[in-house]
Amino acid sequence: MITHLVWLRNDLRITDNKALHAACSNPDARVLAVFIATPQQWKRHHMAPRQAAFIHANLLEVQRALAERGIELVSQECSDFPAAVNWLVSFCRQQQVSALFYNRQYEINERRRDEQLEQALTGMTTCHGFDDGLLLPPGDVKTGSGEMYKVYTPFRRAFIQRLTESDVTSLPPPRPRGKVIANAGVGAFNYPPAEAGAAYPAGEEAALRRLRAFCREQVADYLKLRDFPAIAGTSNLSPYLAIGVLSPRQCFNRLRAECPRVLEEPQSGAFAWLNELIWREFYRHLMVAHPALCMQRPFIAWTDRIRWNRSETDLQAWQQGCTGYPIVDAAMRQLNHTGWMHNRLRMICASFLVKDLLIDWRAGERYFMSQLLDGDLAANNGGWQWAASTGTDAVPYFRIFNPTTQGERFDPQGHFIRRWLPELAEVPDKDIHQPHRWAQKEGRELDYPLPIVDHRQARLDTLAAFEAARRFD
Ligand code: FAD
Repeated sequence: MITHLVWLRNDLRITDNKALHAACSNPDARVLAVFIATPQQWKRHHMAPRQAAFIHANLLEVQRALAERGIELVSQECSDFPAAVNWLVSFCRQQQVSALFYNRQYEINERRRDEQLEQALTGMTTCHGFDDGLLLPPGDVKTGSGEMYKVYTPFRRAFIQRLTESDVTSLPPPRPRGKVIANAGVGAFNYPPAEAGAAYPAGEEAALRRLRAFCREQVADYLKLRDFPAIAGTSNLSPYLAIGVLSPRQCFNRLRAECPRVLEEPQSGAFAWLNELIWREFYRHLMVAHPALCMQRPFIAWTDRIRWNRSETDLQAWQQGCTGYPIVDAAMRQLNHTGWMHNRLRMICASFLVKDLLIDWRAGERYFMSQLLDGDLAANNGGWQWAASTGTDAVPYFRIFNPTTQGERFDPQGHFIRRWLPELAEVPDKDIHQPHRWAQKEGRELDYPLPIVDHRQARLDTLAAFEAARRFD
């Protein structure tokens, strides 16, 4: 009997999983699945312990679902990628695996690892790689001259055109292929212990339930509500998408089922949500076209000459939510506490670190990664380089968010701020974004830090620092 092995990585689901589906397509093959945890690699990339815990919880769900279908899932821990390749080669030899199936990962180290593995397995096991974690494979959407787009809007136009020509049907889960097998249980990873958080129950059923409810009940209002952090106006699906408990095809197909005219109605909430899924694709396509992005290089080279502020005290104040700017502090405490932060707030906090504190965006990128439940190299890097004006589709460096007016606009009554900063509970709505001004007027004392920078001065200093770096370009 031939043996097929599925290597699960960032695709922790059994439905709409191309590699798993292909491995099970031969009814006579014995199918095994494997997951390899690589804690050293995770630490190198500052993966949040809560994200490792979320992977673990979802892996248990996958193991249960596979066991019900007669497929055994083996979980192995290897310190890093070379160790994983060695282990997998001997596992394939020992189990006489004739074909290995996996869904591609697009980060540079992961791609190198797969190349090494394919080489090591030559003559013994054939390898089948699939583009599964994206709606369209990297390289599929190109400019007229055959290059990757550097600006988002034309990318989106071309992307939608390709999407309408492509088959993005979701695949069913594998059929049962024998007796239900005992579920051995996946041991805890050798990683700092953490809770994934009750807000995100593990498993693809939970993720699909959330997707269905969002597309049915909320997506119509998405455009109207998506920028207000006090309102649950976004899908909250990012932790699931980041580790592949849910696929972007499932998202798109569910959206299309609820809103069949999504592609023809660019002013709709549905289109606005699809637009976000396409941003996700854009940053991944970009990372493949420009692998240096994986190595924390800025896309705009001259920005590497900026003389950053190296103050640890400023960095820590930002990390701990003690900058004296309520919208920034509330957001950072939400991140530290839950592992998730609203997109508008990610933009505000990233802008504050880079443009108000003049701290290197890479310090922020690392810190986000160390806390996020939805940590994703491409999206995080893309978001940070966008906010820092160092990326492809960057905002020009002279456009700088004012954290106070951003707060006033997107949390006008301070509902979000009060949720995370109870020390400001008594401050009236109209003063919530500048609480010390109110305290002074009223002769009150606040147990809340004074602003660590004056925004107006910080803005001028940042402009000067960017201009000085650009002068030598
Ligand atoms: P929704 O608004 O419901 O969007 C649906 C899905 O589209 C999201 O789940 C996500 O997968 C994708 N998406 C949405 N916005 C973006 C975007 N701007 N770029 C790429 N994909 C997007 N997203 C991550 O998944 N992981 C990260 O590590 C990450 N880091 C970020 C860092 C910064 C500085 C910024 C500005 C943005 C970052 N984002 C990241 C993008 C975005 O903030 C989150 O995807 C979004 O807030 C997740 O919430 P949601 O699932 O409710 O999103």
